[in-house]
Amino acid sequence: MRISSEHVVFSMEKANKPALSVDSGATVVFETLDCFSNTVQSSEDLVSAIDFSKVNPATGPLFVNGAEPGDTLKVTIHSITLPDQGVIVTAPGLGNLSGSIVEEETVICKVTDDHVEYKGINVPLRKMIGVIGTAPAGEPVNTGTPHDHGGNMDTTRIAEGASLYLPVNVEGALLAMGDLHAAMGDGEIMGDGLEIPGEVEVTVEVVKNFDLPVPLVETDDLWITIGSRATLEEAGRLATENMADLIQKKSELTFNQAGMLLSMAGNLHACQVVNPNVTMRMELAKSLLK
Ligand code: CA
Ligand code: CA
Repeated sequence: MRISSEHVVFSMEKANKPALSVDSGATVVFETLDCFSNTVQSSEDLVSAIDFSKVNPATGPLFVNGAEPGDTLKVTIHSITLPDQGVIVTAPGLGNLSGSIVEEETVICKVTDDHVEYKGINVPLRKMIGVIGTAPAGEPVNTGTPHDHGGNMDTTRIAEGASLYLPVNVEGALLAMGDLHAAMGDGEIMGDGLEIPGEVEVTVEVVKNFDLPVPLVETDDLWITIGSRATLEEAGRLATENMADLIQKKSELTFNQAGMLLSMAGNLHACQVVNPNVTMRMELAKSLLK
């Protein structure tokens, strides 16, 4: 089963019409546009020409039968398939260096099986999903903004082999995703990674009684809790609180003791510092918990 990139949304919301309905356990391929709706194709295509009403298209939404508010949707990411070219842009006003940028620039990069060719430098390939989320219960959230439903989290750990747990806030969950990157550093300091369209193959499963604040990522080795809020302090605290909850559920440790474990062995990282909410994550080795 497959959802084509003709089915895109620019907000996560309960009113979005499903592009496809599947049962829990289904495997689905999402075909995604890049974050500029594939409109930047050469170094002549500058930020000032971008139609910002078409930024961050997310393919979907996918309706998962049986997903009810209060459930959790487990999204297992099997593969991210990319074409051989991506784009990165900058312009005055964008990102962490914005006050010092004086001119627009667009760079097109070739993408190989293991790296991105950037100005004679081989940047390691780091395929990831920038935007992925479910519909929130309340007001629509545009696809550029991350919050508790997921969204534009720009988290490098949301990658091949990982499982992402998202809250189900509305019937069917309404999963949508897009904004793939061939490479992005933690922080995404200029506001974009190596932006690229592609295909993502996932399996979706409804999990009942999961009872955890989310979003949560599981990799072979790590538990990763994600928090998105207006400030890094708030986002970091949220990610940390969610991990403290997870530790208490998976061990005999009290709240204090969970915090001490995190103080010794947890790693707090910035995911992105450039979106309308910023995103932090707390990582803990799975080997430390049952
Ligand atoms: Ca993004
Ligand atoms: Ca992006």
